Amino acid sequence: MSDAETLKRCSAVKGCGQLLPLDAFYKCVNGKLGRQANCIQCLRSANSILEDTCLYVMSNSRIPGEYKIGRSSHPYERATDLQQSHNFNMVVHAIFDGLGYREYDIHCALDAFRIQGYRSREWFAGSLVDLLQVVASFAKPCQTFTSVGSL
Ligand SMILES: [Zn+2]
Repeated sequence: MSDAETLKRCSAVKGCGQLLPLDAFYKCVNGKLGRQANCIQCLRSANSILEDTCLYVMSNSRIPGEYKIGRSSHPYERATDLQQSHNFNMVVHAIFDGLGYREYDIHCALDAFRIQGYRSREWFAGSLVDLLQVVASFAKPCQTFTSVGSL
């Protein structure tokens, strides 16, 4: 194999610009784009500020079967903000501690469930169990999983 097939340069736009072995890069989850533009090391340092953010799964109490999946350091405050001055409650179904930094990859993996046609790209339609299985596949084994509300 040539170097072109085994090495990849980390994008210098947001990363180190180094030529590195392919396994220094995460595969893009949707499989279409090959490897990610920046090496794992660069992603980690960029994401380290996000490591204390949660990945939450919540829904609008008036729209069953649709879920907002996103990242926040304070998911309950986020839920309260969202329902402020509206005629619905946001129901928090699950919070994955420290998983917020994988939001982009989780959204890629959930692409088939994504609700099209809205400005917000963090709403997904499907069974909560199916969605949670995808999200949980990104969690580290030691990560706490808090289930709130009923399925
Ligand atoms: Zn890099």
